[in-house]
Amino acid sequence: MHFVDAKGILTGSGGYCGMNVYRGCSHGCIYCDSRSRCYCFTHPFEDIEVKQNAPELLEAALKSKKRKCMIGTGAMSDPYMHCEEELGLTRRCLEIILTNGFGATVQTKSDRILRDIDLLEEINRTAKCVVQMTLTTYDDDLCRIVEPNVCSTKRRIEVLAALRDKGIPTVVWLTPVLPYLNDTEENITSVLQACAGVGVKGVIDFGMGLTLREGDREYYYAALDRHFPGMKERYVRRYGDAYLLPSPKAKELKGIFLRICEENHMLSTPEECFRYIRELPEKYQQISLFDREEETGGRISEVFQSNE
Ligand code: SF4
Repeated sequence: MHFVDAKGILTGSGGYCGMNVYRGCSHGCIYCDSRSRCYCFTHPFEDIEVKQNAPELLEAALKSKKRKCMIGTGAMSDPYMHCEEELGLTRRCLEIILTNGFGATVQTKSDRILRDIDLLEEINRTAKCVVQMTLTTYDDDLCRIVEPNVCSTKRRIEVLAALRDKGIPTVVWLTPVLPYLNDTEENITSVLQACAGVGVKGVIDFGMGLTLREGDREYYYAALDRHFPGMKERYVRRYGDAYLLPSPKAKELKGIFLRICEENHMLSTPEECFRYIRELPEKYQQISLFDREEETGGRISEVFQSNE
């Protein structure tokens, strides 16, 4: 772990902004796309870069925004890695989001998010909060191989239930689906039934497959060699150097996915899910009186005072 002062914290503009308080990740998922060379890491992926000034940057960025919006975190690095226990930077950023009246969406695989459940509930009460949880593998023995340093799928389902009990909406990422490993009817059905059981709002899937590119591919294949001898050769024969690796059963699995989502009233396309996650309802978007004050150069106070 090493510490840096970042220059900025929010990416995107308008109706949705993303942030990463950490860069790199210690969860060790064997298929991790964030390892891909195109992201130009200048340090080992597990040597977490900590943006120590993230709370100050976020406070300033939110204060300068004219309209409230959803602030997302967790797209490139899990915001609830081990280091968050001692550093608490994700928590401080959520507190800033709450006090400034913005919405939040957090993507994680970790049950450490439960530490902040009251804070998330408060954000959801005053604006909006959506938790996104990845569930790839219902079989916990396989889960410990493909996602070795984070809690099991069963535990993540308990987390989803706890969030539901607090009224916090959730969306599940059922991705990636790894050819010949978790691409079974039993796995997809079990994950989706579990989602339905804990009231998940929607499930994101990108075509029942996996993506691999330079950096990510080498790491994945090394893990296959360690845990599933002969599997890498099977991949190379079928997919070569392709970026997209759809499961041989993708069509059949997608049919099951759509049927179960429909039966249980869960959103089932990435577009629907992302729209739901990123939209802050109109009534919360309005700029506060304080913000209007700044925007109008104090004219609102003058009007109020003239009416007294
Ligand atoms: S949690 Fe996400 S960023 Fe972290 S190792 Fe797993 S896939 Fe990569």
